[in-house]
Amino acid sequence: MKIVSSPHEAYAQVSHWRREGLQVGLIPTMGALHEGHLALVRRSVSECDITAATIFVNPTQFAPHEDLSRYPRTLEGDLDGLRNEKCDLVFVPQNEALYPNGFSTYVQPPAVAEPLEGVYRPGHYRGVCTVVLKLFGILPATLAYFGQKDYQQLAVIRRMVEDLNVGIRVEGCATVREPDGLAMSSRNRYLSADQRRTALCLWNALTLVQRLVQDGASDVGKLESAMHEHLLTAGADRVDYARIVDPDSLQDLQTLNQPAIALIAAHVGSTRLIDNLMLESASR
Ligand code: AMP
Repeated sequence: MKIVSSPHEAYAQVSHWRREGLQVGLIPTMGALHEGHLALVRRSVSECDITAATIFVNPTQFAPHEDLSRYPRTLEGDLDGLRNEKCDLVFVPQNEALYPNGFSTYVQPPAVAEPLEGVYRPGHYRGVCTVVLKLFGILPATLAYFGQKDYQQLAVIRRMVEDLNVGIRVEGCATVREPDGLAMSSRNRYLSADQRRTALCLWNALTLVQRLVQDGASDVGKLESAMHEHLLTAGADRVDYARIVDPDSLQDLQTLNQPAIALIAAHVGSTRLIDNLMLESASR
């Protein structure tokens, strides 16, 4: 497995593979890898000739009060995990390589970035779009794999790729969960044992609403209230949102006679967790 920190070297290697006619799969990450990340790597290894991952904790997607400085960094373990999965190249740039002095060009994210996370983390998707577009330029892969765990991020990147004619196909991969249902996340390691138990309230609220919908409930406002109430009763410290929206636009829904997705962002202690579930309606 090649470990590369220079954008030039990464570009030269990936474009060499592409010129040889090889399919290259790309998995951008912020490290602190877990089974969710490794599932993306496995999918790429099974579908592509070459798999390249990136590890970079991108400062431009964190607001000043967010957890950039305490974000977990576990590089040696991450590299071992990627090596085990037969990843071919890992790009691990320094900050200065991606954001040199004088850097001042940013991507204006698409409209789908505005609701939900866009309200609670203004500027977040500007940073995400900027770094992802840079990574797509540095590692000109055939396909890029992203998790549905970050559902809005996946929608934002799909739209950016379409709007800006980026020649990389984006693939979404199912959320990998702990046995009890908690979505795997690098941020789960911030949780104490008590908080880890409380954190399950996100998944429980999502499955509660799924059950209510299958039993015929269709009032979106009432279903959203049921999620809120469950989260707070189960011990979440704050709920940023618990919404049911259109899966494409992420805009409000009037009825459930159409595809719908439930998304939650909630705080457990000082840790902010997100999760989502596509709702299967009994009537559809
Ligand atoms: P991150 O390192 O958190 O930026 O995540 C890197 C990629 O892994 C993103 O595409 C995430 O959506 C994806 N990812 C993170 N957690 C999971 C999970 N539990 N299941 C599937 N994909 C995930």
